[in-house]
Amino acid sequence: MTDVLTGPASVTQERRLVTEVPGPRSRELLERRTAAVASGVGLTLPVFVERAGGGVVVDVDGNSLIDLGSGIAVVSVGNAAPRVVEAVQAQVAAFTHTCFMVTPYEGYVAVCEELSRVTPGDHAKKSALFNSGAEAVENAVKIARHATGRQAIVVFDHAYHGRTNLTMALTAKNMPYKQGFGPFATEVYRVPMSYPYRDEPGLTGPKAAARALALVEAQVGAGNVAGVLIEPIQGEGGFVVPAEGFLPAIADWCRASGALFVADEIQTGFCRTGDWFACEAEGVVPDLITTAKGIAGGLPLAAVTGRAELMDAVHSGGLGGTYGGNPVACAAALATIQTMREQDLAGAARAIEATMLPRLRALQERTGVIGDVRGRGAMIAIELVRPGTSEPDAELTGRIARACHAQGVVVLTAGTYGNVLRFLPPLVIGEHLLTEALDVLDAAFAQEAGAR
Ligand SMILES: *Cc1c(COP(=O)(O)O)cnc(C)c1O
Repeated sequence: MTDVLTGPASVTQERRLVTEVPGPRSRELLERRTAAVASGVGLTLPVFVERAGGGVVVDVDGNSLIDLGSGIAVVSVGNAAPRVVEAVQAQVAAFTHTCFMVTPYEGYVAVCEELSRVTPGDHAKKSALFNSGAEAVENAVKIARHATGRQAIVVFDHAYHGRTNLTMALTAKNMPYKQGFGPFATEVYRVPMSYPYRDEPGLTGPKAAARALALVEAQVGAGNVAGVLIEPIQGEGGFVVPAEGFLPAIADWCRASGALFVADEIQTGFCRTGDWFACEAEGVVPDLITTAKGIAGGLPLAAVTGRAELMDAVHSGGLGGTYGGNPVACAAALATIQTMREQDLAGAARAIEATMLPRLRALQERTGVIGDVRGRGAMIAIELVRPGTSEPDAELTGRIARACHAQGVVVLTAGTYGNVLRFLPPLVIGEHLLTEALDVLDAAFAQEAGAR
């Protein structure tokens, strides 16, 4: 067994640049990528990975980068987490696939049992497993429509739910997700989100909910709504945290109207925000919840979990797919969940927030180009604006991100206006790496925005 595959122990937890970024070998591979890979597949950082572990990504030129992206909130337990690697190796050697709908296996059932335990609410639950977040969201919509006998799905401004045809309709942002890809699915209705930084002052959570729900009642009709689908903290939309009371008011309205409250916790789930799920912060219990990303330590897996009677409304054979709940991905998920429990990674996410927020607020004070610092747990963002205004500055955001990349820190951008820098470190990241990454960010602002 090579040491490359056994996790962080074999990848020194340090930032170390030995070439410019990207280095010559990455540039060579980039040329091959350009020639062979469709240009519609985007690229954040043109660095090719050789191995990764914990909070570090090592590229083909030998540069070690600090990872503040986790492959978009996926490797929360750390890249190549030792227990995940071990579980995957054992499963892949035993059997790789049978199709759960043909000849089932225990791992799938065990993941569904874990989902019943860790998701909010102590009601009877059941789950179905899929391959990607978008597929989970599509299936949640199918279940909501089937269980309620209604068709309308309510979604929010700035929402992101995926790139398949139905989920493009649910996603808000045109470029790059929807441009030229229509026509889109019908019976999808979009209403305003609670966005404290950009809402009028004094718009509380309950008032923002009333604003959205008045539109639903007037334009859709409460009795036609199968489900209200919402990210409890928006991901691609820029880590928009709704004002306190917004989510509970939406959930209350759903209960009163016979619509399902469907939480898309694909990005927020699995300890990312300092709880198992972001809905817990306000005690909201969703009827259906979609999960993916952090669930399986980097292997593709997704789920819909919900009230047993809703999940069981669908006829046998109505849900599924060839690979859904693949045994290797299930083994990885069980190891991931066990790691999160044993290492209290929800607590680790809260510790990351405690380190990051004061540093980012100090940076906000110094620079005058950060309009908002927000987020929860290890899901933290800053929104960049022109000084003295709330006018989005996407151009500066791009320059800061590139400056961080050049100095060996992986950061991601987000937001409807492209002006949000978001931070999604692995929950196991060492304090020294996190602090060093924040130093690099400070320097990037000093260089690009003239911060002291
Ligand atoms: C990433 C994401 C999706 C889509 O997941 P894929 O696995 O990329 O299909 C859906 N909803 C949210 C909130 C996400 O962050």
